[in-house]
Amino acid sequence: MKAEYTRHIIDIIGDNEDKKFIIIGGIHGNEKGGIDAILNVLPELKKNSLFQKGKVFFLKGNLPALELNERFVEKDLNRLWTDENLFSEDESSPDIIQLKELYNLIADEICQNNFDNCLFLDLHTFSAKSGVFCIPASNPRSVSFAQSFGIPFIEKLSDTLPGTALSFFGNKGMTSLVFEGGTHNTAKASRTLEAGIWHSLAYAGFISPELEKVKKGRELLKEISNDYPHHLELIYRHKLENYYNFRMNKGYFNFKPIHKSEFLAIQNNLRITSPYSGYILMPLYQRKGSDGFFIVREKNKISE
Ligand SMILES: [Zn+2]
Repeated sequence: MKAEYTRHIIDIIGDNEDKKFIIIGGIHGNEKGGIDAILNVLPELKKNSLFQKGKVFFLKGNLPALELNERFVEKDLNRLWTDENLFSEDESSPDIIQLKELYNLIADEICQNNFDNCLFLDLHTFSAKSGVFCIPASNPRSVSFAQSFGIPFIEKLSDTLPGTALSFFGNKGMTSLVFEGGTHNTAKASRTLEAGIWHSLAYAGFISPELEKVKKGRELLKEISNDYPHHLELIYRHKLENYYNFRMNKGYFNFKPIHKSEFLAIQNNLRITSPYSGYILMPLYQRKGSDGFFIVREKNKISE
């Protein structure tokens, strides 16, 4: 393994190459919760031979952005995953270099371009105040994995976000999931992400589902998502060309019900109203981002 790739490795557990699991935190550099969760899981996981099979690679994402505590340096690493970027000669931005290093590490070194026996869990936090959810890639195994968490999961979202690691690996057939654990830099988000890691390792069959950590983790996930609808689909994405001109109105949080025509934000001095009724997702309350908000609805329910 090349030295520049190993800089992304936090730890590797297990030695059975039959099934591999990649768990990554910090693809966005201001989202340290995923890395904290990994660091909390590791010592426990190494105790008493908890690990039964498979091999897990715990990784760090955008290293220079993590250093700066910024979402990205110049370009959002989680919108760069396209063949065009990967196979271009362009190494002009630090984020593109990170993309290429991570691709080489995950695809070539870890999965050896055999994606069927690999799982990918991408840990994130968000700027809104509450909610926990996951986003599966649009293949059946990823959707089943999302469903297993017992928390809200959103179908069709991965297809509308071109250039995410989620959809890139999902399209290669990998079981691939984004887990959004809560608000940036909160202890609660790290605990929730930790619960998600324990659940995932048990789901993959790498540890026993009877472990106390797994049971406690599943209880926590259930407790914090009881009040929300679970099976959702995306109906609208409010894409931003320039996040400087966008200001979300106060008081929105994940899964807050909204009505058609509700006044949601100001953009370029114009009022932005909701084109649909549904639930709002990931309202943008931070400086950087390419989406103002999303609207989701319960799957199989007709919206206005
Ligand atoms: Zn993120």
